[in-house]
Amino acid sequence: MNSPRVVFLIEDSLPNGRVGPELTPMLWSLIGEGGWNPNGGVSVLASSTYPNHATFATGRDVASHRIFTNDVWDGERFVCSSTVGPVGDTVFLAAKRAGRSSAAIVGDQTMVGCMGATDADVHWPPAGVLPATVERDCLGYAANSAVIEQLASSSALDADVLYIHMNDPDSTLHLFGPDAPETVDRIREIDDDLAAIVEMLRPRWDDTVLFIVSDHEQEAVNQDLEPINLLEELDHAGLPGHAHNEGTIGIVYDSPGAAVIKQLGLIEDAVDLDLNEDGSAITLAWSGQGRVFGRSNKTLAGQHGSPRTRTQVATVSGGHAAVGDLATLLAARRPHATDYAQLIATLLGLPLNR
Ligand SMILES: [Zn+2]
Repeated sequence: MNSPRVVFLIEDSLPNGRVGPELTPMLWSLIGEGGWNPNGGVSVLASSTYPNHATFATGRDVASHRIFTNDVWDGERFVCSSTVGPVGDTVFLAAKRAGRSSAAIVGDQTMVGCMGATDADVHWPPAGVLPATVERDCLGYAANSAVIEQLASSSALDADVLYIHMNDPDSTLHLFGPDAPETVDRIREIDDDLAAIVEMLRPRWDDTVLFIVSDHEQEAVNQDLEPINLLEELDHAGLPGHAHNEGTIGIVYDSPGAAVIKQLGLIEDAVDLDLNEDGSAITLAWSGQGRVFGRSNKTLAGQHGSPRTRTQVATVSGGHAAVGDLATLLAARRPHATDYAQLIATLLGLPLNR
């Protein structure tokens, strides 16, 4: 079997339940050519964008690549995870060591840092900075049309492994919520954006393995519920730790542990994502349906982060001979976000370190 070109395309926030002949006819026809898991895949926790993209690039869970939430604690303050990047090996580094080419064209510019994509042969936006003239989506990220334009005008399509990130649907779901008519209409339009990308892949279709996934879903923000401020909750309870509010989760570094955090008012559940040598933990906490952490996160109609938004779209298609077996694999068991980078490494013979 010849070595494929692997394209890994993320439609950010695309709800698995919206995939079908009605709203996503292009994606549906691709599923017909390959396959999927109808129940979807499983994101890493937090079910946020940057932890999952770091996992897509590394094949490892958050405790290994250290991007636990979109913002991470650097020892002094919370900073955007794009400024630190994933710890350890990535598909881009492994491709370089194997003499294979890689590319990443991403609609959310910060993803360049979160995935370590400056190590790819081709990446865009350059150095993770969105050029001022680029067309934007409804929340100010690069529009899908800008991503399509970059694919057409760069050498990204020639790469052995290509990551493509479409930021919209995420922006639309945040702005209008997962169930709004505007969202449903936009999902249909975004499927046309996908069709334009697939058209560009068709000339080498027989060489191509195309994974199309999402990173998480979203839940409707309940505007009647008071947001949780996890910093204040810790303070009031006299507990140690550095807390950060994000979407429908809060995270505590140097925390007393999930069993203690779970006892805080309004916290529904918590899990330790990692344990420190001194016995403290990195703890992720969430509340009930639709309740956000941090007042600023209430300004949007849709949010994510909690286990309720953990389902990922999980599909594979393309004309390469490996697609049939990959479709069988995806269908046999709900894939985990950690599975894909290792699958890509196996397909291309990349020495990806675990
Ligand atoms: Zn996302």
